[in-house]
Amino acid sequence: MRVTTTVKIPHSIMPEDGRFGSGPSKVRPEQIAALEAGTTTLMGTSHRQAPVKQLVGSIRSGLSDFFRLPDGYEIALGNGGASAFWEIACASLITRRAAFGTYGSFSAKFATSAANAPFLEKPALFASDPGTYRLPEFTEGVDAYCWAHNETSTGVAAPVRRVPGSQESGALTIIDGTSAAGALPVDISQTDVYYFSPQKAFGSDGGLWVAVLSPAAIERAERVESSAHLDGVRRWVPPFLSLTSALANSRKDQTLNTPSVANLIMMENQVRWLNDNGGLDWATARCAKSASLLYSWAEQSSYAQPFVADPAARSHSVVTIDLDEHVQANQVLAILRENGIVDCAGYRKLGRNQLRIGVFPSVEPADVVNLTKCIDYVVDRL
Ligand SMILES: *Cc1c(COP(=O)(O)O)cnc(C)c1O
Repeated sequence: MRVTTTVKIPHSIMPEDGRFGSGPSKVRPEQIAALEAGTTTLMGTSHRQAPVKQLVGSIRSGLSDFFRLPDGYEIALGNGGASAFWEIACASLITRRAAFGTYGSFSAKFATSAANAPFLEKPALFASDPGTYRLPEFTEGVDAYCWAHNETSTGVAAPVRRVPGSQESGALTIIDGTSAAGALPVDISQTDVYYFSPQKAFGSDGGLWVAVLSPAAIERAERVESSAHLDGVRRWVPPFLSLTSALANSRKDQTLNTPSVANLIMMENQVRWLNDNGGLDWATARCAKSASLLYSWAEQSSYAQPFVADPAARSHSVVTIDLDEHVQANQVLAILRENGIVDCAGYRKLGRNQLRIGVFPSVEPADVVNLTKCIDYVVDRL
């Protein structure tokens, strides 16, 4: 194998900010400035007191505006990130049996959690190959339909619309919006639960989960959790996995246990920034623009092509680009990193000769254009 020779990318084509991760993702300098501004008023102060509660309140109302919540929908949040929410959903939302669309690491992980929960029946799985998606299909006896809006491991975006017949049967639609929320269009009325972590499109830190809940989801959690205490029902809902406690705390602009105040500050700043700029429509248009710059560059390139064959399934937030065999992605990535352009690696377990680029709202489309120039510059010199 050839040893990487250092290539110095000219300053004139460098992006202003070299962070293109798919999560953690770029944190805007204004969010860091907000931390600075909260040095003595927020940081190191109690989350049970007004200043931090106001922060949580602002996040909740800001997200309600951003997602244009239908009547009765509510925003809940808690510690642990989307991964924790999978366990919450198993403990507090799925009554007996769930159906899953699985088409990559993240969508499969939730299905695995449900398969391993001893009090749930084996899930119905609707799987497809990496680079494609498959939605779950109507299945008798299923009370929750689950899939990921954006499969971060492959850069595939799936539609978010209820499975025909599911709502009439009383089943919930539970969508992992982790790398989609804030970047891809969504009609929340097509979901009962739309959950995500803030280290992707919201450009904050990991460790928190946020969930948009429909009245049906709230009612389901109440029913599941109360029946868990009845004689003969073998289900343990640990307090940390109780969606009803999370919601009760959220309604008071608090969290069950101590949150990262810094993360709340960054998240609040980002939600306000998105809303001030034009909300979901603005954010989704900006991501679509950045993504299309990358896809069209790849299509015109002699050595790169979009990994996802179906243009309609190509993500606007996480862009995956395959490189021809003679161009080693690892080499390109190493040189980019030496130049300060970071986190463009494909998902490790996917194992492809690939670049994966996060183009969340915080990323400047002009920086995306320069990124393509930098990649070309590096490849020309390999
Ligand atoms: C990142 C990601 C997760 C995991 O989020 P954590 O906050 O690390 O738990 C889950 N689902 C999707 C689609 C993701 O992109």
